[in-house]
Amino acid sequence: MITINVDTNKLEEAKTVLELLNEQFDENVKMRITTADRGQAVGREKRFTLPARAFERHQAYLIYYVVHEFTHCLGYYDHREDFKFWECKLLDKFGITIEYARAYPKALYCNGDKVYSRK
Ligand SMILES: [Zn+2]
Repeated sequence: MITINVDTNKLEEAKTVLELLNEQFDENVKMRITTADRGQAVGREKRFTLPARAFERHQAYLIYYVVHEFTHCLGYYDHREDFKFWECKLLDKFGITIEYARAYPKALYCNGDKVYSRK
């Protein structure tokens, strides 16, 4: 039996973000936590994993992760411009802007403050 300890408040907020997105798009995307290093979306099955590791970062990073994987579940399976269009649009609802390094963020800003920067 593996126990995963994550910050409960952060988990609740991640769930709330997913609920809001599901409501807005009339979807029923499912999320579960993984001990793997990276999350993964199975877009066609409308489900994704959120890595426990993401909980160690700023809350905005966690929201970014949920939005990123949710966007795949909307049918944008790669990271092309239409994917990025929706990712940015949805992040904006949560006050988050992204500076891209190809597919993933080089930096994330929350209400103007830099809250994540890739090493
Ligand atoms: Zn992706």
